[in-house]
Amino acid sequence: PVVRDREIQEARLKLPILAEEQQIVEAVRENPVLVLAGETGSGKTTQVPQFLYEAGYAREQLIGVTEPRRVAAVSMSRRVRQEMGLTADQVSYQIRFEGNTTDSTRIKFMTDGVLLKEIETDFLLNKYSVIIIDEAHERSVYTDILIGLLSRIVPLRNKRHRPLKLVIMSATLRVEDFTANRRLFKVPPPVIKVESRQFPVTVHWSKRTPDDYVGEAYRKACKIHRTLPDGGILIFVTGQNEVNSIMQRLKKTFPSKTQPKGDAKSKEVQKAAPAEKKPELTEEEEEAIFFNPKLKKQKKHKSNELPEVNLDSYAIEPPSEEAEDLLEGADGEGDDGDLEEDGDEDERAAAAVPGADRHPLHVLPLYAMLSTEKQSQVFEPVPEGARLCVVATNVAETSLTIPGIKYVIDTGKVKQKLYEKTTGVSAFQVMWESQAAANQRAGRAGRVAPGHCYRLFSSALFNDEMERFARPEIQRKPVEDVLLQMKAMHVDRVVNFPFPSPPDREQLRAAEERLVQLGALERPPPPPPGADKPSAEPETRVTDLGRAMACFPVSARFAKMLVLSEQHELLPFTVCLVAALSVQEVLLENPVTAEDKEHAKQLWSEWMTLRRSWAGTGNSLLLGDAMVLIRAVGAAEYSGCTPEFCRRYGLRLKAMREIRKLRVQLTNQINLVVPSAALGVDPRLAPPSEAQCRLLRQVLLAGLPDHVARRVDPQEINNPEDRPKWKGAYRCTSIEEPVFLHRGSVLRKEAPQYVAYQEIYETNKLYMRGVTAVEPE
Ligand code: ADP
Ligand code: MG
Repeated sequence: PVVRDREIQEARLKLPILAEEQQIVEAVRENPVLVLAGETGSGKTTQVPQFLYEAGYAREQLIGVTEPRRVAAVSMSRRVRQEMGLTADQVSYQIRFEGNTTDSTRIKFMTDGVLLKEIETDFLLNKYSVIIIDEAHERSVYTDILIGLLSRIVPLRNKRHRPLKLVIMSATLRVEDFTANRRLFKVPPPVIKVESRQFPVTVHWSKRTPDDYVGEAYRKACKIHRTLPDGGILIFVTGQNEVNSIMQRLKKTFPSKTQPKGDAKSKEVQKAAPAEKKPELTEEEEEAIFFNPKLKKQKKHKSNELPEVNLDSYAIEPPSEEAEDLLEGADGEGDDGDLEEDGDEDERAAAAVPGADRHPLHVLPLYAMLSTEKQSQVFEPVPEGARLCVVATNVAETSLTIPGIKYVIDTGKVKQKLYEKTTGVSAFQVMWESQAAANQRAGRAGRVAPGHCYRLFSSALFNDEMERFARPEIQRKPVEDVLLQMKAMHVDRVVNFPFPSPPDREQLRAAEERLVQLGALERPPPPPPGADKPSAEPETRVTDLGRAMACFPVSARFAKMLVLSEQHELLPFTVCLVAALSVQEVLLENPVTAEDKEHAKQLWSEWMTLRRSWAGTGNSLLLGDAMVLIRAVGAAEYSGCTPEFCRRYGLRLKAMREIRKLRVQLTNQINLVVPSAALGVDPRLAPPSEAQCRLLRQVLLAGLPDHVARRVDPQEINNPEDRPKWKGAYRCTSIEEPVFLHRGSVLRKEAPQYVAYQEIYETNKLYMRGVTAVEPE
């Protein structure tokens, strides 16, 4: 029996889901699968595990709850344990590198990735009686794969008379992907909708969409606090830096009495000083470092050729979008430290408003990396007479519910993981949220009373630019990655896999071919002659190489390069190269700034001279355009990546900064999956040695087996009329037409007989970009 604190019990009884306890428990008892949809804050995450616990599901086996976010797994396990008056031994969590599960664990919160790993070793998940998939609307790749796998595990467990129950919980978005998909669940699972009281929310559109949405959000908050009646304010921005920036401005504008002014200020100034300033990493990167502190230690390299690496010192120059804007002076937002001189009208006006002090603003941050203690501050009572203002990332959209919010300020922006098409490198980018997300955010204002949502974008933008729903990650990710990852988990028939939203079949097949060619997958040997022919094409299986490749967060050919680089301690170069190849137009091809043609010609020849000197001679030259990229990145960083340097040497400034950011992200991701690599980023990468160049060339070629071209002697061409167009041309395996070395390639003079290329693009003819020489055997 669970004995709850009286206060907690009172709070629970106010939750709409409590009225449905019996219905939910019965539905779980009578059905193998249940979909539970309910508004954010209705009590799904905190209450359903407790209902099932009290219904006896944790008596012999475990109740498992998966969360797409590590932070949710940690903080929700804590909240549930407190509500139930149990210990951390009993209600525990497990995230990738950390956990407190014990033999007495009864309810286990974990990330979806952790449960997937468990399926690898115990396919039937025998230690669980129930699996609750929480936040299913977020549609992470892992959630989707988990739901697909569980749709098969549940009937298997039923057959063995040890039933496993599956509960899919979702904010009320598009549950049809789970219920109307017959391949997934033959019998459509019942849906319980938890009705929660939702008051009307008035939506206010901006006439125009401001560029400086952070500043605009701040100004809007000031206006609300000064002119509108009581009620909490919730501001949605995209990242930790933006949260802090708004926090600081608000605290300065509305200094709270309880906090001596000078004290608060000096603390903040200190924080903003460059030397103290924390690097802006994405939340995920921060988590990576946070949960694996080892990454912060630097590795001593055996070879003295390779530079010493230090992630800490590197990160002093923040590789953030905001920092970029600052460096380029793109907007007047100003550094946090600049605020002192910043003559913001609103700030001055605020100081002049008599009585602004009488209504203190209780400003709190909320983002994924905040400590659990700080996070839970938003649940605590607001000081007498003050107004709550929470500045949050989209953690507050559905994962955490803040009480007492009446005004929502929505910047419309969200940080999303995007995948570069060819390299598969993922990077976080600020983009427009979906319409569904905008509506979720607006809904946060109507939990206690009628509310208001201020959208810092126009209704035209909402209609024209925002997608209706965010697309599931599995459909945004390159299919090769998904395929390889699933094969590595021994899901052999991927084409038949019951995805909630399947990737394209044809694309899956093409991806399979490429993976076989790369050696990541293999077909079983053909049957001996005389044996019956198998009726269907045999399934491919993952190879050892493929399994290693699946660990790297980039697309297959680059993953192969990274795997091979690990063996030769070439990783820093390969990481640099993959990052550089993920960014468009690193090396400029047109001196557009030049006034006249003569000047342009001269500039171009200067750039090419420099690029040829970067390419060097011998193995370094054979590495070709790849060598130029590596040297360009190292040289630009050495110079501090200044606009002058980039202009002078024909490099695109934004591209160089993008590369820097990607190198950090990629390095962190690699360290996460291969902790033994203990990789660091030295921005000023010293050039590879002659021997390393030779190895790098092999590594590169191993990733490009299908991107090889041979120089053609026009005499080979049968039809004499066609011969002229083959002058100086190459033939590649997959294309009929002649292809050429681009004039920007450092190998153009050498014109090696065999080359490998990164990509082919078309202008007036077909050109190969990113060319490396292949030596004939
Ligand atoms: P859902 O999962 O349906 O979005 P939750 O179970 O997360 O809802 O939240 C239910 C209620 O519990 C909300 O009102 C929320 O404010 C409250 N709550 C959640 N975590 C805490 C906490 N750590 N301290 C106090 N209240 C909390
Ligand atoms: Mg929840």
